[in-house]
Amino acid sequence: MKAAIFDGKEIKIENVPEPMINDSQVLVRVKAVGICGTDLAIAHGDLPTPTPIILGHEFVGEVVKLGNKIEKDWLNKRVTSEINSNIDFSCYYCKQGLYTQCLSRKALGIDIDGALAEYIALDPYLLHEIPDSISYVEATFIEPLAAAYQTFEMMPIDKNDETMVIFGLGKLGLLITQVALSKGLKLIVIDGSDKKLNLAKKYGAIQGLNRHNIKEIPMEIKNLTAGLGADIVVDTTGNPNALKDIISSCRTRGKVHIKSTHGLETPINLTDIVVRELTLYSSRCGPFEKAIEGLKSGDIQVKELISKKFDLDNVHEAFDSYSISSDYIKTLILI
Ligand SMILES: [Zn+2]
Repeated sequence: MKAAIFDGKEIKIENVPEPMINDSQVLVRVKAVGICGTDLAIAHGDLPTPTPIILGHEFVGEVVKLGNKIEKDWLNKRVTSEINSNIDFSCYYCKQGLYTQCLSRKALGIDIDGALAEYIALDPYLLHEIPDSISYVEATFIEPLAAAYQTFEMMPIDKNDETMVIFGLGKLGLLITQVALSKGLKLIVIDGSDKKLNLAKKYGAIQGLNRHNIKEIPMEIKNLTAGLGADIVVDTTGNPNALKDIISSCRTRGKVHIKSTHGLETPINLTDIVVRELTLYSSRCGPFEKAIEGLKSGDIQVKELISKKFDLDNVHEAFDSYSISSDYIKTLILI
């Protein structure tokens, strides 16, 4: 089968053997894969992985082959998959149902081979059936949308939480935008792309600030929040240089939520966090059921988040596409 393999230096399209399934696995014919910031970080050498590795973890496909122990119902099902594989169901975290933090977990496309290939072998506990009303292309957003919902699983909001500021309107920022609005938060968004800001405002954000036009972002946020700063500030920038403004834009006793990774070590002003008694939150993979329901109900719109689609042979172009324009939101590979 054809696969996009990262060898530690570059991504190459190669012909490799189709994955073998054991009695307890299914074979999925991959249909579409979203290219994520994590994929870009690996390809740029910012996130070390074992190599060679097949990248790709935001994917959908059809179950085409079953192991002997698998229920026949699975055949031909349209599915998406959790990213955390190799779950042991017995460790400290699994016993609490926290499978995404399993001590044995291996992330598809990061620790072990992922889905930028024609086929992938999977354990069925990873799979979620895609309802007929959700297309394959839309369903590639289920994994990142689950991560957007996880923001609020880890950080409960209460009646004193009214204003949230999101720094960064990539795919994740625009998904969190929609989840936050569905929870009734007043939303201010910050990005360098007017196109993305306008999209967030169309969803219902009360204010969109273009960072290129603002000298002091925390001051601007204070002006918009009765001089206090925002109740909640969410970072999806992946940019360590933005963290100072992100923390400074939060009001005293407010909540700062870090959604993106910033490389291995990042200097932040801990004294400011301590003195103003800020609470620091973080989150990653989330509840797929909520994401599927969000898409099914129409609460979450994803069609406008798709910037371009490529086929597997043009995977380099797909990875490069993000650097072409700051208006780019999401690139998909159709396989
Ligand atoms: Zn476990």
